[in-house]
Parts: sequence; structure tokens; C-alpha cells
Amino acid sequence: MTAYTELMAFQRETEALSQIAGRLGWDQETMMPEGATPQRAEEHGAMANILHARRIDPRIGEWLEAAEAADDVAAANLRHIRRDYERTAKVPARLAAELAKTTSLAHRVWARARAEEDVASFLPMLQKVVDLRREEASAVAGDTDPYDALLDDYEPGATGASLSAMFSALRPRLVNLRAAILDRPAPTPLSGAFDEAAQLALSQKLALGFGYGLENGRIDKAVHPFSSGSGLDVRITTRTNPVDPFNCFYSTIHEVGHAAYEQGIDHAHLLTPLGRGVSMGVHESQSRIYENQLGRSRAFTGWLYGQMRDAFGDFGIADEEAFFATVNRVSDGFIRTEADEVQYNLHVLLRFDLERALIAGDLAVNDLEAAWNDRFAADFGYGVDKPSNGVLQDVHWSEGLFGYFPTYTLGNVYAGCLHVALRAAVPMLDDDLARGDTSKATGWLRENVQQFGGLRTPVDTITLATGGAPHEGPLLDYLEQKFSAIYRL
Ligand code: ZN
Repeated sequence: MTAYTELMAFQRETEALSQIAGRLGWDQETMMPEGATPQRAEEHGAMANILHARRIDPRIGEWLEAAEAADDVAAANLRHIRRDYERTAKVPARLAAELAKTTSLAHRVWARARAEEDVASFLPMLQKVVDLRREEASAVAGDTDPYDALLDDYEPGATGASLSAMFSALRPRLVNLRAAILDRPAPTPLSGAFDEAAQLALSQKLALGFGYGLENGRIDKAVHPFSSGSGLDVRITTRTNPVDPFNCFYSTIHEVGHAAYEQGIDHAHLLTPLGRGVSMGVHESQSRIYENQLGRSRAFTGWLYGQMRDAFGDFGIADEEAFFATVNRVSDGFIRTEADEVQYNLHVLLRFDLERALIAGDLAVNDLEAAWNDRFAADFGYGVDKPSNGVLQDVHWSEGLFGYFPTYTLGNVYAGCLHVALRAAVPMLDDDLARGDTSKATGWLRENVQQFGGLRTPVDTITLATGGAPHEGPLLDYLEQKFSAIYRL
């Protein structure tokens, strides 16, 4: 056996164990009896220990030294394994253990602080999390920017400086677009009651229509929609709301985008580092283009209107045109996860700037709430009324996930670029979407993005699919054109 074969055999078992760990998480959110919580925590801990020990196994270093890449697949596998190994090796075991312990504790403190609207009770824990993540980032980054080391976990190759340049170009046009829209009359909201079984039936029809395969997946209910797993077993969850069926439909389409990416990767890469989506940003580009550019388009919502009339009868919307406006309704609100396409990125940009300042040491944890509230008022035009609508709304920072937020907007930017290329490749796409047929769109995405998994870097994945480097222009043009038409700006 060559060093490369031995390394890949070892890695394959690690990948399999990591899929099992992921399935424990899926089970916890969908099936697990509530009383099992303490035992499940130990089961998670045991898996985490096994995986960590395998990731720092010194044999990996020896194999990497001796291994030679016979082709570009082998070269990409070695690139991923080397990156993970070197990164894990730079973080002292003491720090890794302290981070795991502190973030699990911080998560509980955050949940209580949010329920009690008490920011002060969370700040000492947040300070600890920030300190530990800064220490980790410095250990990994060496002389480079510590924030980039954290970002690299989610979006390999991206830097805070390059994202900052892109996001600075987004912000003023989004702020202006938002203000112009909210000056106009709001579209009619949905009214009526929406039977749960009918919501679930239509959401499954949407999932299958968008190319999700039940022979390698399943759909269950969970409090927060998510997708999990890769390769031959990719599961999604959804949820229902009796007065807001869009919540069910569009979160399903969103998760189908993530799942289609994982299901669409070439099976030759199964249980290797290439057999997973390449980055959070590219992942989000798939969920967003399914959900927004396709799922919230005029053509597709025309078809959805008919489907919903069949399923629910009259829900107070006169015709397809009015329904398109309702689906794309922009209204005031504080919460990122409930935001529409226009305002969503403003929420993300706010978090990106604040977390970058926290990690750089330019913003003190004690000043975070004031900085949040100032920035929110500047972009949204009104003040935050309570911490659960402001600085305490998201789980990410309590879990130490610094560098994660920007991948949401990066995904939207990538989706904007992919959408232009898709429309050029499939010029009559709207005719299909108007019949609820997304197969040419999802086929193009599979062929040009999804099948490659981790073979290409994130930026190369988008650049080679679209014929140009990722750029915020297409997303802004798309949003301005779409919402100018809906709101007659
Ligand atoms: Zn997503």
C-alpha cells in the first residue's frame, strides 16, 4: 500500500464516524425522547473525543510527508487533509477542551439571558468565549489577521479585508433600496388558516420538484429547519405555522438547496474530504438560489399560487401578480432569520463588522450592545426595543461561531452570480418555472457547481461555473430590478 492509499483508508473511517456523529445530532432534533438529553450529551462527547484523537493522529503527518498526488482528485484530497491536520495541530489540547466546555456553558447562559432580556448576565461568558477564540485564532494565524483564521474555518481562502470591501459596496445600495420600498404601500398579507397536513404535503411536493431524492433522504419536522448528512444519506427537516405557510414552503426549499448540493456531489468522492460541500458560502449559494432567485421568482410563484389555491382555497390574494408581491413582502422587523431578501444582508453586515471589531480588540464586549443598537438605528431607521430583538437574538456568538455570519451574505452574492450564468445558459427558464418545473435550473447547478464537492476551492467553484470572479454587482442589480418592479419604485 502507498502512503496515499493508507491515508485515504484512515480518512474514510474518520469521515464515516463523522457522519455518524452528525446523525446523532439529527436524531436529537427529530426523534430522541426528551429524557435522553444527559445520555446524548455523553454520546456526543465520546464521538467528539474519538474524532479529535483521529484528527491529530501523528500517522497523518507521516503519511502526508510520504504521499504523492497522482491526479487532481488526489491533490485536492491531500490539500484538505493537510489543511485540517495542520490547523488542528496548532491548537493546544488544553485550549480545545476549554473552548468546548465554555461554549456549551455559554450557550445555556445566553438562552437564559435572552429569555430574561438581561444582556449584562451574558457579557462575562461572552468575554470568555471571545478571549478563547482570539487565543485560538492567534495560535492558528501566526502573523496574519486572527479574524481570517476564524473565517477560514467556514470559508477557506476568504479574508476579512476582501469581504469588507465587498460588503461596503453592498450596504449603501441596500439601505437606499430598503428605504425606498418602505415608503411605498405594503402588499396584502396572507389571511386565513392553513391546514398542517396540507402544508406538509405541498412542501414535500416542492422538495421533490426541486430535485430532492427520498431514496437517499427523508423529511421530518423539527423546531429549526436544517439539513444534515452527505452522500447517500442527506436528511432535511421542516416546520409548520398555522397562519404562515410560506415559513414551511420556503424553509423547505432552502434546505432542499443545501441537501441537493450534498446529494449532487459525484459519488466517486463518497466518504472523502471531497464528498462534502466545499464551504458555508457555496452551500448557502445553493440554498439561496433555490429559495429566492428560483422559488420567489414571478414565474414560479405564479405556479405556487395555483397550488396553494387548490390546497387551501381562498386566502385573500386576488391573483398571481398580487401573490408575487405578497411572497416578496418587505416589512419592518428586528430579526435576521425572518428578514426578506432586501433586509437580510443588512443584518449580516452589521454582525460582520461588530464581530470583526470584537476579535481585533477594537470593540469591547461591554460596548457591544450600544454598538449594535447604533448601527441598527443607522441602517433601519428605528431603535431596537429589547435585547432579544437585538444583540441577544442569534445563537452564534454564544457558541463561539465568529466568522460564520459573513458566509450568509457571501452565499447570496454567489447566488447572484450563478443566477446570471444560469439565465444565460437556460434562456427560456421562466416557461419551465411557470409550470413548477425547476429541473433545468437544478440540472445546471448540479452540472456546474454541485458535482465537484470539495474538488475546487470555493472561489474557483463559483468562478468556473460563472466565467468570472465573484462580485456583489449581480445580486444588487437583481434585487433592485425585482423590487423596483414589485413596488413601482
Ligand atoms: Zn442555509
